[in-house]
Amino acid sequence: MTTLTYLQGYPESLLEQVETLIAQNRLGEVISKRYPDTHGITTDKALYQYTQDFKNQYLRNAPPINKVAYDNKIHVLKNALGLHTAVSRVQGGKLKAKAEIRVATVFRQAPEAFLRMIVVHELAHLKEKDHNKAFYQLCCHMEPHYHQLEFDMRLWLICKDEGWL
Ligand SMILES: [Zn+2]
Repeated sequence: MTTLTYLQGYPESLLEQVETLIAQNRLGEVISKRYPDTHGITTDKALYQYTQDFKNQYLRNAPPINKVAYDNKIHVLKNALGLHTAVSRVQGGKLKAKAEIRVATVFRQAPEAFLRMIVVHELAHLKEKDHNKAFYQLCCHMEPHYHQLEFDMRLWLICKDEGWL
């Protein structure tokens, strides 16, 4: 079950359900029925605006974001979902923090719910560096179904990887 390495850390009972769906050749069908829509946020400019709208609504006090972009160098399946960097640079004698968010290109053509999940994840990193309890509380504050979406997004990635979508 090499495909399930993307699901490490999830409860055994949940993994068994996934294995059953895979054995029945139904995982792709289940995921595409549950998430039939894609989104229109295909440019970096649109992605920036989309992210900024979330930030304005939920994380007004977090540091400003300077750049949001799709990045084809992120290999989602290996480890990272997206990337967030905080670059400090001196500008006019003052130290300025610059936050950048990069989203793996695979999410350019994804259900909107999964893009939302990634953006929420990366925005939460503006306030919490680690994947700790406070971090996931922030994620759930911005998207109440965060945990479900992260799990389903992993199933979706498995399906893409295996050519089931
Ligand atoms: Zn993270």
